[in-house]
Amino acid sequence: MLERLDDAAKLTGVDPDIHRLLRTPERILEVAVPVRMDDGRVEVFTGWRVHHDTTRGPAKGGIRFHPDLDAREVAALAANMTFKTAVANLPFGGSKGGVRCEPDQLSSGELERLTRRYTLEISPLLGPERDIPAPDVNTDGRVMAWLMDTLSTLRGDFMPGSVTGKPLSIGGTRGHAGATATGVLLCARAAFVELDLPFVGSRAVVQGFGKVGGPLVFLLSSAGMRVVAVSDIGGAVYSAGGLDPSALSDHVAQVGTVAGFEGGDRIDADDIWDLECELAVPAALDGAIDDHVAQRLGARLVVEAANGPTTPEADPVLDRRDIVVVPDILANSGGVTASYFEWAQSRQGYAWEEELVASRLRKVMDEAFMAVWAKADALGVSLRRAAFALGLERVAEAIAARGLFP
Ligand code: NAD
Repeated sequence: MLERLDDAAKLTGVDPDIHRLLRTPERILEVAVPVRMDDGRVEVFTGWRVHHDTTRGPAKGGIRFHPDLDAREVAALAANMTFKTAVANLPFGGSKGGVRCEPDQLSSGELERLTRRYTLEISPLLGPERDIPAPDVNTDGRVMAWLMDTLSTLRGDFMPGSVTGKPLSIGGTRGHAGATATGVLLCARAAFVELDLPFVGSRAVVQGFGKVGGPLVFLLSSAGMRVVAVSDIGGAVYSAGGLDPSALSDHVAQVGTVAGFEGGDRIDADDIWDLECELAVPAALDGAIDDHVAQRLGARLVVEAANGPTTPEADPVLDRRDIVVVPDILANSGGVTASYFEWAQSRQGYAWEEELVASRLRKVMDEAFMAVWAKADALGVSLRRAAFALGLERVAEAIAARGLFP
């Protein structure tokens, strides 16, 4: 994260004082989260909430439950959110939080008590004008509902604007579920136009068939692409003519993986990267495209749906091979953009129609894409370096405008 920030500072020639300021998070809160377990004993978990920068607006960032979480990772992820919201030009700063735990080892009751106690402990940092959590790895709408309920109970006010990714019944937004995938599709289409490639009939491979990859396969196919291969944790399937997304989805609903789907041929999950195609979308893990994969990647364009799917070593290899990469902080910002719309609706007390959410999402994504593309052109650098440069410029402009207290 710091290397990317330093690189962006060099590219933009930003004021060294502002650069220094952004190398450190605004605040890191570490909390003990004692939870009464189902067997009666008390377990004490560790949790964090980090605000990286709140100059452009209240902090925005997810909450994850993961056994390997630590303060440094949360801080890096919070900084990433500062630049992601700036690239999308949303009026937010960046934050992140989480609890170090193994969520699949917890009962539903334990998970709820953990969420509520964690919310209480970090509550001084939260609020619609302060910091607005959202779902992240291993958290979902149910966890967000507990968080919102806990905060509302503590403060004595109904506070739907204090969290996003909530269920519709308590002020969630229409169109949240497919927003990240839609943003990925919009970026892919815009890049195809810039690269002068025809979208209809082109071939795509997708790694991951989860909350992002699943809807994305549908969207790409309905937009006229041939999705020739899909992989997930269980394996991969291939069909030169394109996989049928509905049949594939039915298969996954039945057996839990794309492997064994009869509408295609079985291939090794790792082999999807070798396939000659126009578009590759990593929508599963970080580090999926390392320098070895980069050397044999058969795609012309990579659109990063996952967070951090390309390793720093792979970037120069892809550059050298003239493979264009639309970076995660741009490509997967459809989710945080829908979160922005949800926050706006919660504060307005007025639910938008699905079409309004969709058209505004398109506008935000298209503008962000064009701004990053133009910046890359102007600086003569990759889209990734350009995106960080653009984000840094926007944050720096806001810091300069507000000045330093006291
Ligand atoms: P998910 O858990 O719903 O799905 C993950 C998918 O990846 C599953 O299909 C799983 O089988 C597959 N997978 C796991 N290990 C794999 C492996 N070794 N090889 C191939 N496939 C593998 O997760 P998600 O919400 O779809 O998120 C995917 C990525 O997108 C993550 O990096 C996440 O941070 C990022 N992201 C998600 C959102 C969102 O709105 N959900 C927003 C921004 C970024």
